[in-house]
Amino acid sequence: MSNSTESNLISPFDLTAEEGYKWVKGNLHTHTTNSDGKPSPQERLDGYANQGYDFLCLSDHRKITRIDSVDCPDNFTLIEGAELHPDNPFGGLKHHFLALNIHEDMDSDNMPPQHVIDNVREQGGIIWLAHPHWSSVNILRDTVPLTGLAGVEVFNTTCRCAGRGESSIHWDDWMALENRIYPALANDDSHALESAKRDTYQGWTMARVKDTSAQSIVDALEKGTTYSSTGPEIHDIQIRRIDQEGDERTQSEATVRCSEAQRIFAVSDTFGTQYTEDGAIFKTATFPLRPNARWARFEIVGPHGAKAWSNPFDLTGLKRS
Ligand SMILES: [Zn+2]
Ligand SMILES: [Zn+2]
Repeated sequence: MSNSTESNLISPFDLTAEEGYKWVKGNLHTHTTNSDGKPSPQERLDGYANQGYDFLCLSDHRKITRIDSVDCPDNFTLIEGAELHPDNPFGGLKHHFLALNIHEDMDSDNMPPQHVIDNVREQGGIIWLAHPHWSSVNILRDTVPLTGLAGVEVFNTTCRCAGRGESSIHWDDWMALENRIYPALANDDSHALESAKRDTYQGWTMARVKDTSAQSIVDALEKGTTYSSTGPEIHDIQIRRIDQEGDERTQSEATVRCSEAQRIFAVSDTFGTQYTEDGAIFKTATFPLRPNARWARFEIVGPHGAKAWSNPFDLTGLKRS
């Protein structure tokens, strides 16, 4: 294993409002009557627009739902994409890959997974491992042999309805096995009508962007200038080296600012730490990370158990301040 972690990620909290950056909220995984969803594409779009979202992908199974087939509000961004299902040659179920910013359909069911990934990349799109926990994905067997996936869906509302909403262990395994940090998404994967109150408006991704074009949002997703949430807001995360010259171990300290929280987990490559105030609710926390940690990501738990997930931070390149 090399000394540094492989990383192209940027912290969204380093992109300032003075430079023109703002947060936008979106859901990148939904289904419509073009596959096995209940609402029409227009109803799905109107629902998310009415809830104050800024961007959306109508990611029907196997086939792109064209963004020019719906009437999109001016201040709303549609990202063209689809959920693709190549066979898994290494075992298990068919793959569930979320392809964003693609404009050409492909026969993904009859293509090896690596060809699907390569096709999406050649189109200028990005492709994500969707809900690995629900899909019974074995990261070592099924995912590590592939190259070019952008990251993982850490939370999926529809899969929560089936008891497997979170895939954070798969995320951590993947990063540990490849010595590389990946960004994540939280998505609804909504199939039901919003009136069912089942799988709409419960998991979303916040992206830090200057403009709200589909390309800018997709770039932000890939660079990890985002966080995932089922409720809490993350306002800032800053990490400092606090070990001294000559110390045997590297030691970092994080300061997190967020909406009301009861607990923060700092998950690292080995294991992590948690911060609490003995049951009290807080909005700012400063605490040490695991000594010698190579990377750390943060889970903020709100007063009623909703969560937000930061993307991982590479700690191997941190200099002493
Ligand atoms: Zn799926
Ligand atoms: Zn889906």
